[in-house]
Amino acid sequence: MLVKFERDHTPDQVEAVCSKIASVEGLRPDVDIGAVHTIITVVGEINGRCETLMHQIQAMPGVAAAERIGRPYQLAARKDSSQHTVVDVGNGIEIGGGKLAIVAGPCSIESEEQLRTIAEGVSRAGAHILRGGAFKPRTNPRSFEGLKEDGLKMLRDIGGEFGMPTQTEVMEPGKVDVVADHADILQIGTRNMQNYDLLKAVGQTRKPVVLKRGMSAKIPEWLSAAEYILDGGNKNVILCERGIRTFDDTMTRNTADVAAIPVLKHESHLPTMFDPSHAVGKTRLVSDVALAGVAAGADSIHVEVHHKPEEALSDGQQSLRIDQFEALMQEIQIMEEARRRIVQMRQR
Ligand code: PEP
Ligand code: MN
Repeated sequence: MLVKFERDHTPDQVEAVCSKIASVEGLRPDVDIGAVHTIITVVGEINGRCETLMHQIQAMPGVAAAERIGRPYQLAARKDSSQHTVVDVGNGIEIGGGKLAIVAGPCSIESEEQLRTIAEGVSRAGAHILRGGAFKPRTNPRSFEGLKEDGLKMLRDIGGEFGMPTQTEVMEPGKVDVVADHADILQIGTRNMQNYDLLKAVGQTRKPVVLKRGMSAKIPEWLSAAEYILDGGNKNVILCERGIRTFDDTMTRNTADVAAIPVLKHESHLPTMFDPSHAVGKTRLVSDVALAGVAAGADSIHVEVHHKPEEALSDGQQSLRIDQFEALMQEIQIMEEARRRIVQMRQR
């Protein structure tokens, strides 16, 4: 159930509704105060108790409406067209605040020198967030698995040198604390989207979490995975489309589901990220598809960059060289401006 308030409601009226909800065993209120709305989501198993409670709340002062949500992902669901979550990732950078955020860096952190060279290049080109894998989930156990804790330290130090917030993957609940101590954004990879213990563990932190879409996940399953993180009280969730399994994997690694971006905007208030690199899997396709993500309205774009892709220990085949990334950044600016103008035209 969802409760919307009148514009001139008072904090006491919100408090009264919260107490009413909390007085029912197994239910709790989740309050979202936006610029133009206040919404309470009733979290918990509500079946069979909804009707009476809904009518009682409808009669309370300050309440504009109390209605069913009708979707299992109660917290992730969008309740109102003006409801947008903005995630503050540090150093003045936000995801979902209206300005496109660019995440760039190597697939794997390989050495201090490698990460510094790439960080310098992407920062100069205008990227906002530095990514780099320290714990790498690999399809084959004999592939490079990352520098682990040593890589985390490099990411923290080099992100700091360039004033960039950092993003890196965490693969198991037991490593959440150490990754959260070193990085600004925790990434849940496609292979772990339904690792519920891991989702619960990152839900206990208050760090921004980039939740990548499972490679075969339907959008409702993805939003339900986000619900696990939100349920722990961590509201800083960013949904990253990274391509879904394709039947024609000779041409692209995955299918870039660009449509997922507007679908998510309709279904959820959470900000979005679009990762063309893992979607297409080939360097020469990355820039065109990145621009498609911007055109579709993604709040952030995530690109793998390497100064020497031919020597990369992972995902060199889909990494942009630094000069290619610089060119993409200029193209993104043009596309971002076009997108902004289109959104303004639609609002007229
Ligand atoms: C990555 O970001 O390097 C990665 C492994 O991504 P995904 O989980 O989308 O494959
Ligand atoms: Mn990668």
